[in-house]
Amino acid sequence: MAKVRARIPMREQTPLTRIHNFQSVPYGYSEDEAVEEATRCLLCRKPSCEPACPVTISIKEMNHLIAQRKFKEAYMLVKEDNFFPACSGRVCPQEKQCEGSCILQKQGQPIAIGKLEAFIADWGRRHEVEISQSINNNQSKKIAIVGSGPAGLACAAECNKFGYDVTIFETLHKAGGVLRYGIPEFRLPKDIVDDEIKKLEESGVKIELNHTVGQNIYFSELREQYDAIFLGLGAGAPKFMGIEGEKLDDVYSANEFLIRANLMKAYKFPDWDTPIDVGKKVAVIGAGNVAMDAARTALRLGAGEVNIIYRRTRAKAPARAEEIEHALEEGIMFHELVNPVRFIGDDKGFVIVIELVKMKLVAEGGEGRLKSKPIEGSNFIMQVDTVIEALGTVPNRLFLSRTPEIETDERGVIKIDENYMTNIEGVFAGGDASSGAATVIKALGEGKKAARSIYMYLNAKEYASQ
Ligand code: FAD
Ligand code: SF4
Repeated sequence: MAKVRARIPMREQTPLTRIHNFQSVPYGYSEDEAVEEATRCLLCRKPSCEPACPVTISIKEMNHLIAQRKFKEAYMLVKEDNFFPACSGRVCPQEKQCEGSCILQKQGQPIAIGKLEAFIADWGRRHEVEISQSINNNQSKKIAIVGSGPAGLACAAECNKFGYDVTIFETLHKAGGVLRYGIPEFRLPKDIVDDEIKKLEESGVKIELNHTVGQNIYFSELREQYDAIFLGLGAGAPKFMGIEGEKLDDVYSANEFLIRANLMKAYKFPDWDTPIDVGKKVAVIGAGNVAMDAARTALRLGAGEVNIIYRRTRAKAPARAEEIEHALEEGIMFHELVNPVRFIGDDKGFVIVIELVKMKLVAEGGEGRLKSKPIEGSNFIMQVDTVIEALGTVPNRLFLSRTPEIETDERGVIKIDENYMTNIEGVFAGGDASSGAATVIKALGEGKKAARSIYMYLNAKEYASQ
């Protein structure tokens, strides 16, 4: 293969500037930069990038249109396959998907597909490009969507395209799920989330906020009033280690910490009434995207020192490579192969010390992932002012405990068949609620595919009744 031109780098705030603000780290491509990056695309006859995209964006065509400066056409094309490109372009783990499968990956310089997707989405927003969505008129059929995270939003957008009368029910006072309350402003500005959701509403989808299905509106009511239901409940309940001292003050779950910071705008205190004092020294337990977000948020909230505590090695950390790089550039310290044993508090009940143990990776039972095991006698302590546990999440039990008729598996996630239907006819599910904690793009893809199953299900039902 001929030598390819290097990727156009993304301009971004320097680490020293950005640790003092919550604004977006990257500035985004200019038109000229986007054109230059898009012209690197080889326009492969069989684009290996496309099958790796869970929402099946026509990546090659998008690149081709951007290269020709046909920005409006590129925007319309992308929006047709993915109603939320400004969000997914920013947070999708592209290195494991489209970019990981791009033919230029072999030379270590895949096309910056995610950055081009975000560029084109921002261009469409800035130029107020109108999009028409509905291809059919099926308004006599009503679809209820529970949860307004990426899975629910994508299912709603696709059902709306089929012409159905769609209503989303969301328990929080703002729509967006983790896009809203989990992922911080400096990675995903909320005016971008607002804009993509506003466009969905303008295209006809209704969103009922402050509606908790299973509490102030019952599942049985939805069953009576709607022709099909999609459950996009997410996996919003944090996991804990189950060790001594987890109930001490200033030991947070990452969910609680990020909700306070993002949804309740603690970072705007005192303009917003949500105080959050992280103290001088913060420890974050875990090394996924959630842990990186919590650590980088703590830094921006004024912590002098932020430590990531991870029981495996940095190379095995599940967070996106870019997030780990950004965290390290910002001065966050990564302690690999260590694990908390207990949290110790002062006489007022505030955490002051973590007892840690060193870990080693050992092969157990032949094949598979190496297990991380404590090294006996290697315990040591770290002084802390705040601890944030980011150990993963499971589906919230509120809804599921009130609807025992919906089958779940041993992990507590909703069981679905290959068409995303649950054990109850006409009730579908997707995203984290049925897969366990995963990614934004997986949730978008499942919401979209579930909508197609809803379409086929309702059509089949109608023909059967004729
Ligand atoms: P959610 O986004 O969790 O949305 C579910 C919605 O359902 C919520 O709004 C909830 O309030 C609502 N709900 C729940 N129960 C009810 C009820 N009974 N009635 C009404 N509404 C209800 N993924 C990536 O790809 N890249 C990243 O960089 C990334 N970073 C992340 C950072 C953080 C801090 C977190 C927490 C997750 C991150 N993820 C990331 C994972 C990703 O955000 C999730 O996989 C994705 O949001 C799942 O989408 P979902 O629609 O299934 O669920
Ligand atoms: Fe372009 Fe890479 Fe896709 Fe080929 S695989 S079409 S080079 S983005």
